[in-house]
Amino acid sequence: MTYHLPKLPYEFNSLEPYIDIRTMTVHYKMHHAAYVDKLNKALEAYPDLQSKSVYELLYELERIPEEIRLAVRNNGGGHANHSFFWPSLSPKGNGEPSGQLAELINTAFGSLDGFKAQFTQAALGLFGSGWAWLCVDADEKASITTTPNQDNPLSGDLFPLLGLDLWEHAYYLNYENRRVDYVTAWWNIVNWNNVGGNYLSFKAQAKVDEVSGKVKGFLNKVKGG
Ligand code: MN
Repeated sequence: MTYHLPKLPYEFNSLEPYIDIRTMTVHYKMHHAAYVDKLNKALEAYPDLQSKSVYELLYELERIPEEIRLAVRNNGGGHANHSFFWPSLSPKGNGEPSGQLAELINTAFGSLDGFKAQFTQAALGLFGSGWAWLCVDADEKASITTTPNQDNPLSGDLFPLLGLDLWEHAYYLNYENRRVDYVTAWWNIVNWNNVGGNYLSFKAQAKVDEVSGKVKGFLNKVKGG
């Protein structure tokens, strides 16, 4: 199998006014598509790796042959991160976290507002291009983290539940240099059902291998990879 651009779960103008149609179109059709093309090119001579999900590639990056490791890290990361990002957005948002996701957030951050404040601070504090994330570790402990470039938290043994693209290509056409306005707007379109689903999938499917300490049985099932 080779990797492909997943279908967007809404129209290019669906996220307006928070994300404008031009930004969405360029972001999906040019940026994300380029990561997919370059990932496929990097793996052309490695058919055995093509059968893995892109999340599996990133989780065990050290096992990728050195001559293509950086290409997989950057372009596989770009593909994985954007495939994860699109369904985490919803035209009308989805209210608030509920059920086990709400419990996770309240336990780790005190409240939803506390979580939003810490996440926003992390997003604004990231220097240059990268992502902000809500993750859990193998013990299901929640944390907020940032990654540079297109690095994915999986490469550091953290499992993302929610991610925010902080590259200027994600917001500059509309917000120019005002990252804070983009982050503030983004909270209105977070698809909490999707985030909650990511957590429930992890809880249901992730099994820690006692010898390697690595999580098995989850990454091949992550959607969109
Ligand atoms: Mn992007």
